[in-house]
Amino acid sequence: MGSGGALEVAGLVKRYGSRTAVDGLDLSVPHGTVTAVLGPNGAGKTTTVETCEGYRRPDAGTVRVLGLDPVAQASRLRPRIGVMLQSGGVYSGARAEEMLAHMAGLYANPLPVDSLVGTLGLESCGRTPYRRLSGGQQQRLSLAMAVVGRPELVFLDEPTAGLDPQARRATWELVRALRSDGVTVVLTTHHMDEAEELADDVVIIDDGRIVAGGSPDELCRGGAENSLRFTGRPGLDLASLLKALPDNSAAAELVPGGYRVTGTVDPQLLATVTSWCAQNGVMPDRISVERRTLEDVFLELTGKELRS
Ligand code: ATP
Repeated sequence: MGSGGALEVAGLVKRYGSRTAVDGLDLSVPHGTVTAVLGPNGAGKTTTVETCEGYRRPDAGTVRVLGLDPVAQASRLRPRIGVMLQSGGVYSGARAEEMLAHMAGLYANPLPVDSLVGTLGLESCGRTPYRRLSGGQQQRLSLAMAVVGRPELVFLDEPTAGLDPQARRATWELVRALRSDGVTVVLTTHHMDEAEELADDVVIIDDGRIVAGGSPDELCRGGAENSLRFTGRPGLDLASLLKALPDNSAAAELVPGGYRVTGTVDPQLLATVTSWCAQNGVMPDRISVERRTLEDVFLELTGKELRS
């Protein structure tokens, strides 16, 4: 296990009775980065994050958050991290502004509450009891409470679930601002676009294990889904095209006159295809490079849709 990351998880196992929710998970999150944890329902994301937050004790393996054990050294760690839970865990009669002010009061150097309220569009609901807030407002209040103490590391569990597009965008802006302030952010999400927009690193969990990790770009690069498509006259001699292409390539006519070339799609491949077209009197009237998306990668690895 690396020792310098803001979050270091090694060989984490967490069971509920006979069910193994997290099954030997390793994760290293560098300081000042945003890491998105993706996975289908029941993959073990929340269990992993809650164990990192110190709410659950590992059955095996180790977790270090800012170098500290989140259970044994909780009192030292708590003032340095922010936690946004999926479901409030708050007294439902408390007013939004009181809750936020109370939370701010627990920290030595909190963010100005007013500006946070403005950023997250919570101005109109300061005096509303928590239970009367809409789901989206509760969500934004939880986010505000997680970050008001200027944490060094913040855990956000599905921060934009159920938010309207405007609130979602405001949340994204806040995450970006945290990152530019050097805060480490670990977020779980079901939204691929969110991971692509925000994350330096993406970790895909399935059945309690990490099945892939890397930057969104790294994850989307390579693989059979990266393809070059072009249109030309139907019935081109694909055997001849294949001879011109590198060994790991494949070519297919998907519909009459619609061709797909897969393999290592790089500038060289594009040049080879266009030059083959030129030599064969083919004018490709549409040519495009299609990258696989995180959604494609996710489906490939887990065989599951993100949302069930
Ligand atoms: P989701 O996307 O649905 O929130 P998740 O990836 O966060 O899912 P977890 O909530 O960590 O997944 O659940 C992992 C597995 O552990 C699931 O099979 C779930 O049913 C089980 N599980 C979670 N919490 C408990 C619990 N308190 N008691 C028993 N089983 C649990």
